[in-house]
Amino acid sequence: MLIEKIDHIGIAVESIENWLGFYRDVLGLQLSRSEEVKTQKVRVAFLKIGESQIELLEPTSEDSPISNFLKARGGGIHHIAIKVNDIKEALARFHEAGMRLIDNEPRIGSHNQLVAFVHPKASGGVLIELTQEPK
Ligand code: ZN
Repeated sequence: MLIEKIDHIGIAVESIENWLGFYRDVLGLQLSRSEEVKTQKVRVAFLKIGESQIELLEPTSEDSPISNFLKARGGGIHHIAIKVNDIKEALARFHEAGMRLIDNEPRIGSHNQLVAFVHPKASGGVLIELTQEPK
């Protein structure tokens, strides 16, 4: 398994529009894409920051996982995404090591990336998203 880089840092916000005022206009980061991920009930916006990105996540419904996070934590860093070259191999390795996974199988995330979440209990309290380019 090859870890390539931190792909992005996910930040939960009430409103992407409001926070573009900081991330795009004050920091000067370039908005690379935004889309709605219906399966996760979120709208996302990606801003390039060097080799990585910042992902702003806004809930599109009251029962979105991001709504729950905002209620419990009031926003902030939601997850760190690590880009790997083989997500299935990564999941198999974590499973073998007895680590708790949220997704046992990769699924399709935004931009057709393969993604899978590792439980925060496995990583010191940080939700980790594994991501891999579609082949
Ligand atoms: Zn993400």
